[in-house]
Amino acid sequence: MEEPPAAAGLSELEPEEARLAQWVAESAAYISEFTKGLHNAPVAYGEDSAGALEILQAPPAEGPGEFTALLDTYARAVKSGVETSGPRMMAHVPGGGIVSAALAEFLAAATNRYTARSSHAPAAVALEHGLMRWMCGLLQLPDTAIGVTTSGTSMAALSAIVAARSHHLGQDFRNGTLYLTDATHRSIRKAAIIAGLDPEHIRVVPVTPELRMDIRAARDLINEDRAAGLSPFLIVGTAGTTDTGTVDPLRDMSALAREHGLWFHVDAAYGGFFYLTAHGRKIMAGIHEADSISLDPHKSLFLPFGIGVLLMRDAARLRNAYATGDNPHLEGEGLDEILELPDYADLGPELTRAFRGLQLWLPLHLHGVEAFRRALEEKLRLSRILYQELRQDPRLDLPWPPDLSIVTFRLAGRADADHQEFLRRVQETGRVSLSSAQIEGKVALRLCVLSHRTHMEHIRDALAAIRENL
Ligand SMILES: *Cc1c(COP(=O)(O)O)cnc(C)c1O
Repeated sequence: MEEPPAAAGLSELEPEEARLAQWVAESAAYISEFTKGLHNAPVAYGEDSAGALEILQAPPAEGPGEFTALLDTYARAVKSGVETSGPRMMAHVPGGGIVSAALAEFLAAATNRYTARSSHAPAAVALEHGLMRWMCGLLQLPDTAIGVTTSGTSMAALSAIVAARSHHLGQDFRNGTLYLTDATHRSIRKAAIIAGLDPEHIRVVPVTPELRMDIRAARDLINEDRAAGLSPFLIVGTAGTTDTGTVDPLRDMSALAREHGLWFHVDAAYGGFFYLTAHGRKIMAGIHEADSISLDPHKSLFLPFGIGVLLMRDAARLRNAYATGDNPHLEGEGLDEILELPDYADLGPELTRAFRGLQLWLPLHLHGVEAFRRALEEKLRLSRILYQELRQDPRLDLPWPPDLSIVTFRLAGRADADHQEFLRRVQETGRVSLSSAQIEGKVALRLCVLSHRTHMEHIRDALAAIRENL
């Protein structure tokens, strides 16, 4: 007979109480120090970490490691590449990473609820569903709407495009055509291709001088495609493009979609939560008419990376696309019951999933909605200041007033290469991180004010770094 393990009831994988408390305390001390340090963090880290990459890739040993040493190794790994969470990050779309959401993630993982099926964890599902209902309400979707958390907007959009395809085209989608613009995020094209649509049938609709989808041009393309025997089925609008933060004419797009019987999807990955502000509601008017909306709490709600949301006007359309019918609980169940407590496994491609709802629940209840609204209003205000200040400089061109919190500019009369050189110089000051984009075939520079840590002092620094390097 085999010997029973020495410490009965405790396995090596289940630390004793004191040891667990020690790990948590060390982690808390590290997080506290890290967060404090962000306020003076560089925009990017130097070569230093390169030597560490080898250590980081070492395979795990057979024997146990030491928590403090491992935490140290991780702390070194963090100081590598771009500092996405600091206040000077205005390149691409900055990541915020509010600490309360990180704690929620820790709690959710430690308690490990299974939220794929409501019968397994009704209260956890209710908690997530409540927040999804809140978001549907925020964006003024009707009672038939439902929300599902995903890993990000790319997955939310993929889920929506598959639902649109299956609703409008059924099994034979070879002739399906969809409409977007040059400013549409690449993830939409990628999703369409993953969904099996013909890349040749992705129509790029021209934009107006303000970079918004040209409705007349869209209508012409749809009519041409229909006349050619194709099946227009989807039009994608963006509420805040990644390059310039531009909002498409959502109301007109929705009318066009209705006129032609198309699905209207709105990609609100970056812009979505600005709907919490009065300005956002005005500029995104019409978004509530969408068939589906994707948005990223890990962008405009400042959460750590790994959470997106899909809001679907008609919950049944998601279920039609994704329910496999192998869940005994669901037999004979009506839409009302689904709306009451959803089985998330039937509303998207995932089965087992992270309990992401807690990452929304804890921060929103802890800080209150008003705290998020105020932070977003601050971002709008700061970007307006940036725009006004830069516009006064005759050495700069600012052809597009910001719809949201992205400010785009060009060096007047200078070549693309000069822009890249200028970008490098500004970056080297360490006072702000900005990025470039191709807009209408030419390089432009852009600043995206989105971190909850970015305040007026950082905007002043950014302005100084830009002016001194012109
Ligand atoms: C960031 C972004 C995406 C992609 O979202 P992920 O969460 O990175 O998958 C899609 N659309 C827009 C407009 C974005 O800004």
